[in-house]
Amino acid sequence: MTIDCRLRSEALVVAQRCLCLALLWLPLLAHGGWESLDHEAMGTRIHAEAWHADPEIARRALAEVQTEMQRIDAAFSPYREDSELSFLNREASKGWTQVSAELIRLLTASQRVSELTEGAFDVTFASAGRYYDYRRGEAPDQATLDSAVEGIDYRHIEIDAARQRVRFKHAATYVDLGGIAKGYAVDRAATIFAAAGIREASVSAGGDTRILGDRRGQPWVVGVQHPRDTKKMAVRLPLSDTAISTSGDYERFFVQDGVRYHHIIDPTSGSSAAGSMSVTILGPSGIFTDALSTSVFVLGAAKGMALINQMPGIDGIIIDAAGNMTYSDELVPPTAAP
Ligand code: AMP
Ligand code: MG
Repeated sequence: MTIDCRLRSEALVVAQRCLCLALLWLPLLAHGGWESLDHEAMGTRIHAEAWHADPEIARRALAEVQTEMQRIDAAFSPYREDSELSFLNREASKGWTQVSAELIRLLTASQRVSELTEGAFDVTFASAGRYYDYRRGEAPDQATLDSAVEGIDYRHIEIDAARQRVRFKHAATYVDLGGIAKGYAVDRAATIFAAAGIREASVSAGGDTRILGDRRGQPWVVGVQHPRDTKKMAVRLPLSDTAISTSGDYERFFVQDGVRYHHIIDPTSGSSAAGSMSVTILGPSGIFTDALSTSVFVLGAAKGMALINQMPGIDGIIIDAAGNMTYSDELVPPTAAP
C-alpha cells in the first residue's frame, strides 16, 4: 500500500514535470505552423507559405494549391495542344464554340479590363504575339506582323454567356491569357487557403502575389525587382491582405539591332510596348492587379498613372522608360531598398 502510494506520487511528479515541459514548449509549437511549398507551373516558379495552428492543415492546403495551379496551367496554357485555350483557338474562328464556365469568366473579366484601359489590355494581342519567340530571339517580319495585327481587337471575341459559347469574328484572331491567368491562379489559391481556415498566407506565381493577413503580427515584405539589375530590388513594400502584380520588360526579352523585344505587346502595333520598364499594381484581387499591371505598362507612365489614380482601392508604382520611379497618390513612398 505504502509502496503503491509512493509509486503513485512519483508518477504524479513525473506527469506534472511532463505537463510543465509541454507548457514551456507550447508557445514555440504555436509558432511552428508555418509551412511552404515551391513548384513550377504556368512557366514560372510558384512559392506559397501558409500558417495554421495545425501544420497538417497548412500542408494539405499547400498541396491543394499546387494541384489547382497545375489544373489552371493544363486548361489555359497556349503551349499545350490539349488545353481548352488551344481548343478555343483552333475552333472559334470557324463558329460558335462550346467552352467551360471558367473560360467564359476569364474572357469576360479580360474584356472588362480591355474596356477600362481602352484596349491596352487585349488577350487577342496574341494574334501577333504568337509570332515572337523570345528564347530563340525571333521576331515576325513586317508582312507577317501587318496581317497578324488585323486579328487584334477584344471586340473580335463574341461571348454568349447564357449558352456558354464563344466565337471569333476574325480569322486571324488568337487568344493568350498570359496577362491574367497567374493573377487568377493566386486568387484561386487564396480561396483554397480561406476554405481551409488559414488566415495568414502568401502565394506568388512569378510577378503575381496574393497575400492573406499578415506574418503573425508583422507585415509581409514584397520586393519589386530592379528592372535593369536582377540581383537588386528597386523597392521593398511592407504589406498585408492584398494582391500585388509586377509586369516588367526584363521577364522575357531579347535585344536585336538595339531594339528590346519583350513579351508585353502594344495591341495597336503588335510590337513590344516601349513606355515603361516596370509596373507594379496593388489591389484587392490578383486577376485585376495582373491584368492592370500588363495594361498600365502598355499605356505608359503618364496615362497609366492617371488611370491608377482614378480607381479607388488601386495603387501603383511605375518605373518609366528612363528609369524614373513614380508612386500613385495614396501610396506613401517606402524607404528605397539598399
Ligand atoms: P505580365 O507578366 O502579367 O505582364 O504578363 C505578360 C503576359 O501577358 C505576356 O507574356 C503575354 O502572355 C500577355 N500579354 C502581353 N501583352 C498583352 C496585352 N497587351 N494584353 C493582354 N495580355 C498581354
Ligand atoms: Mg500582369
